[in-house]
Amino acid sequence: MVKQQTIQIFARVKPTVRKQQQGIYSIDEDEKLTPSLEIIVPHDLADGFVNNKRESYKFKFQRIFDQGANQETIFENIAKPVAESVLAGYNGTIFAYGQTGSGKTFTITGGAERYSDRGIIPRTLSYIFEQLQKDSSTIYTTRISYLEIYNECGYDLLDPRHEASSLEDLPKVTVFEDPDQNIHLKNLSLHQAVTEEEALNLLFLGDTNRMIAETPMNQASTRSHCIFSIHLSSKEPGSATVRHAKLHLVDLAGSERVAKTGVGGQLLTEAKYINLSLHYLEQVIIALSEKHRSHIPYRNSMMTSVLRDSLGGNCMTTMIATLSLEKRNIDESISTCRFAQRVALIKNEAVLNEEIDPRLMIIRLQKEIQELKDELAIVTGEQRTEALTDAELLELEKLITSFLEDQDPESRLEVGTDMRKIHHCFHYLKKLLNDKKIHGKSTVSSEIKDQDCQEPLKEEEYKKLRDLLQQRDNEINILVNMLKKEKKKAQDALHSSGMDRSECGHSQSSPFPPGNPEGLRTLPSSAPTQVQDVNTFGYRSSLLHRKTVMREEMSLGRQEAFEIFKRDHADSVTIEDNKQILKQRFSEAKALGESINETRSKIGRLKEEITQRHMQQVALGISENVAMPSMPDLLEEKLRSQLEEEKIRYKMMFTRLKALKVEIEHLQLLMDKAKVKLQKEFEAWWAEEATSLQVNSPAVNSLNHMKPFPQTPESQRERSQLLCNQSDVNARKILPSPCPIPHSREPSSTSASLEDSIPEKPASSIPLTGDSQTDSDILAFIKARQSILQKKCKCTFLLLQGHRSPSSAHQPLRERPTAIRPKTPYAGPSHLTSSQ
Ligand code: ADP
Ligand code: MG
Repeated sequence: MVKQQTIQIFARVKPTVRKQQQGIYSIDEDEKLTPSLEIIVPHDLADGFVNNKRESYKFKFQRIFDQGANQETIFENIAKPVAESVLAGYNGTIFAYGQTGSGKTFTITGGAERYSDRGIIPRTLSYIFEQLQKDSSTIYTTRISYLEIYNECGYDLLDPRHEASSLEDLPKVTVFEDPDQNIHLKNLSLHQAVTEEEALNLLFLGDTNRMIAETPMNQASTRSHCIFSIHLSSKEPGSATVRHAKLHLVDLAGSERVAKTGVGGQLLTEAKYINLSLHYLEQVIIALSEKHRSHIPYRNSMMTSVLRDSLGGNCMTTMIATLSLEKRNIDESISTCRFAQRVALIKNEAVLNEEIDPRLMIIRLQKEIQELKDELAIVTGEQRTEALTDAELLELEKLITSFLEDQDPESRLEVGTDMRKIHHCFHYLKKLLNDKKIHGKSTVSSEIKDQDCQEPLKEEEYKKLRDLLQQRDNEINILVNMLKKEKKKAQDALHSSGMDRSECGHSQSSPFPPGNPEGLRTLPSSAPTQVQDVNTFGYRSSLLHRKTVMREEMSLGRQEAFEIFKRDHADSVTIEDNKQILKQRFSEAKALGESINETRSKIGRLKEEITQRHMQQVALGISENVAMPSMPDLLEEKLRSQLEEEKIRYKMMFTRLKALKVEIEHLQLLMDKAKVKLQKEFEAWWAEEATSLQVNSPAVNSLNHMKPFPQTPESQRERSQLLCNQSDVNARKILPSPCPIPHSREPSSTSASLEDSIPEKPASSIPLTGDSQTDSDILAFIKARQSILQKKCKCTFLLLQGHRSPSSAHQPLRERPTAIRPKTPYAGPSHLTSSQ
């Protein structure tokens, strides 16, 4: 089956911060026509624009989502139809295109703050796994890969080595083509995900790896392309046909032009690469949209090679043009829309990707070969005269027995073309028939075969029935005895305080009686055996591991600095908010878990009561020789309807618990990611602090007559080690070479020399550990604080003198302190500069 379709294009407008941006665009959603987006170029901009005569540009889209559209709407309208066709066996691709900051990552992956902000990837995973669970008639396999293309090189974001290496050290993912022109990716790992949680973990792991590999100098997230792929295989049990479908969810690099960004050095190289690969993408799209073009330049870039099927090939492709419609972004927005219009011309042909399972195919072919060989033997008239061996005879009899026992009317007795074997079969069957005749059990008829195989069955059935009868007799005896006992008990109870129900049987802690396994079976199949510990949800091993390792590596001094850094960091508010939500969800889940357990017990008790009631009724009938009342027992009916209600309640609570579980998992991952990010930013800040400390110390020392930092060989080594430990490679690059070691220095204890070197801030407020690494960290922290103070003094001093320091000559003085703060948008540890 082939589905022909042009690439679907959608537009999404990012909410603007400033309200005065209104009037820049308008959306026309006439129901009969394709919706169109009109971008109005303001007069003051038009002059410098491409064509100053035109004031507005109109672009058609499948649908346009204005600022208010939420993530759910985007998923329902854009991603869900694609996910559905992937489930049906067609390839799918969704890619986001737009300038940096226009919301590509927000749309594809989602925002890092709220659960409701989750984007297309987590929602699609959730939807796909939900559908797979519903369809129990098919066997599905889901595998995930996550590829990043940066500067024309591919990196596997799920490579476990990511934790230990920088991006550049990882083996590159390479593209190669097989003789059938199919694209394969070498070094890209595929991870099987059995549940939604596992798939979600892979997504977060990849995102975190991407973030970790990013340094301030290479903001890979805006300069690289990311392709998250879901590979789905399905097979019906017993069938030889397998379906494969791939879904690529692509977050492209920012589409801004180099000229506008006005960057130099490494950034220019990167911009060139992004633009080169986006340029090649554009070339492919132009070639595809032109009729009669025989050569499509897919091979020019890695991205177009990987997405070859998605562009004009076997795939249902959708593009989301993300637009940030603010005055300053007008030209980029127009260029994004123009690109989309060209994309909309491309026709794709998606085919149902079915293939025969090779193993089953081999079995089929082997059988066919044997049949052909047999036919050939008959045709060539091959004769055998020697007698069949005992083993051959035994083998034949086995074949005949299984043939006779086989209930399938189509089954065949496969003995090949050997006439000796064929004759032997007839003899054997004749013998069987005669034996039957002698026993008078059957007459010769066309139903001989059936008779032969049904006789033993009947006997078996008869035996079964006899056993059952015996069982029932025993049961009735037991019941009568029980009833007698009950009656006696009831009479006794009348004399004492009354009847206690619990005496009849089962403890409260076991909701289902041991002899009643059916009780469990009526509940949803996925019900956990015990809903107790909500903390056991999912695993976040990799992220968690990284977080703890980072934390454990920190000394006490650094940890203190980290705590302060964290307190002032903008993200900590989000983390705190999410913590609160998580707490609520946890307690909700806990309460729900308890209610579920209660309901389970209740269901068990009700079943128990119904059984008891039923038994009593039967036993009463038997002991008093009265026929079972034909009227339905009212009490039993009531119990049954109660049972049904409880079951519905149970199912509802269980569904809610499942949804909560996914939400908790997602929130935990969001928090873990935010924490790793915070830690990474802290490391960068710390490294920067340490660097500026070294760079500035001579000048500062001379200015303030500070005691020089004691340069023991020990501390020197520690300090350089500390600086080398920093994660930011770029920070390392600009570190000055270590100062020369003073010649005559008495070896002294580290803590003693530390105390000597700290004139202002008492070291006692920060615990010294005696561990040289830790202490040098503490020292570095104190020195960082001092350096800030010193810099402030120096600035004031120089300002008063009307001078500029030689090291800051290229920068206005006001800007110097910002160099030691974390980069915007985070406020950074402001108190460090203000509190002293
Ligand atoms: P891109 O990936 O295109 O560079 P991002 O997705 O990172 O852009 O978006 C930039 C910022 O704008 C992020 O902080 C993101 O949360 C926010 N943002 C983008 N789109 C939306 C939206 N539709 N609603 C709310 N915030 C958005
Ligand atoms: Mg992005």
